[in-house]
Amino acid sequence: MKESLSKRKARGGRVLRALRRAYPDAHCELTHTNPLELTIGCILSAQCTDKRVNQVTPALFAKYRTAADWAAAKPAELEAGIHSTGFFRNKARNIIALGQQLVERFGGNVPNDFDALVTLPGIGRKTANVIMVSAFGQPGIVVDTHMIRLANRLGFTRQRDPVKIEFELQPILPRPQWGHFSHAIVFHGRRCCTARKPQCADCCVRRWCPTRDQW
Ligand code: SF4
Repeated sequence: MKESLSKRKARGGRVLRALRRAYPDAHCELTHTNPLELTIGCILSAQCTDKRVNQVTPALFAKYRTAADWAAAKPAELEAGIHSTGFFRNKARNIIALGQQLVERFGGNVPNDFDALVTLPGIGRKTANVIMVSAFGQPGIVVDTHMIRLANRLGFTRQRDPVKIEFELQPILPRPQWGHFSHAIVFHGRRCCTARKPQCADCCVRRWCPTRDQW
């Protein structure tokens, strides 16, 4: 029988509270000190691990400090600096175009505005939500590979499309909790509900998970 929205919301609240207890300090694991660094880190993290991105960004952030610096970057130099993150030509192109647009349209700043963010090169809904949550402390549900997997296993959606999942999760979870939920799901997906072998016996949300022990 299909779970009603009110029951799903109640279950969502219990999952949220359990995740908060398990991962009180869940946070974005891309190293950054300002919105611009986070934005660059997000672009580099496409098809790449946060760990790898964190290995290349210290040298990059020492060299390119402002949007104007990224706008003026020489493609070959930038490509060499980000080579190990994969898809380096495309990423370099996007980063330089991003720097140019930030200078031309936003005074060199990353806009604190979701609708503006998604108009920028290399930034889709996922990255815009990461920036809203982690750079500006605003609500946002980040649908990455962990969220797709866990939202399905937890029975909050049957969708695989990230945008549909985001819109299905929004009414289930209190808006102020969206950011922490997003971070906690990534922590839980990396540490317990992994893609290959979820540790259901030790899972903090197993009581409220309709697919526990089925993997
Ligand atoms: S009970 Fe198992 S499938 Fe459900 S969230 Fe926990 S680890 Fe994942």
